[in-house]
Amino acid sequence: MSATRNSPNASSDIQDHADQADRPSREEAEAAVRVLIRWAGDDPSREGLVDTPSRVIRSYEEFFAGYTQNPHDILARTFSEVQGYDEMIVLKDIRFESYCEHHMVPIIGRAHVAYLPRERVVGISKLARLVDAFAKRLQIQEKMTAQIADTLEEVLQPLGVGVILEATHQCMSTRGVHKAGASMVTSRMLGTFRDDPSTRREFLSIVGHSSGFSVSNS
Ligand SMILES: [Zn+2]
Repeated sequence: MSATRNSPNASSDIQDHADQADRPSREEAEAAVRVLIRWAGDDPSREGLVDTPSRVIRSYEEFFAGYTQNPHDILARTFSEVQGYDEMIVLKDIRFESYCEHHMVPIIGRAHVAYLPRERVVGISKLARLVDAFAKRLQIQEKMTAQIADTLEEVLQPLGVGVILEATHQCMSTRGVHKAGASMVTSRMLGTFRDDPSTRREFLSIVGHSSGFSVSNS
């Protein structure tokens, strides 16, 4: 199998804000957590909380690891020897954990990612890594859906792309209206997934939605 590197388009604004020159130090970030603990009404110097700020900041490094990843690079290695394979490629039920940019609480869900290759395919695990690179940021679900689909289209230039995200938002289940169990579904269909009803139906039936599932192109 031969591998080539695409030369992705000029990078966009989705890149490493973490590299920004004015990024606060770890000490400043931990001090900010102590302020929030005090604001909540507790004592950051008591035994149970004394190491909490450093734990929170280490958690943040995991929660927001996406800022250190370039989604274009994840897809850069493609394969062109596919023995004439020209059917849909689908990776479904990709669990993701993201964080609502309005409340900074988790958005937990599943992504279904599909494309119809033109001539290049990408290692299937890269689709899951692509989802994570966008999930591990402060997000809204609509934007994340579009970013995944648009990046696949830009880098692989396939005949079509379909992305569906289903997620529950803790800002809705644990605060505000307190509606547990409600899940939000977003989708973005490009190329043949948008224009060809049979392609879209095939994708929806693979991921388990009825063919009547209405697709809004966000
Ligand atoms: Zn929210």
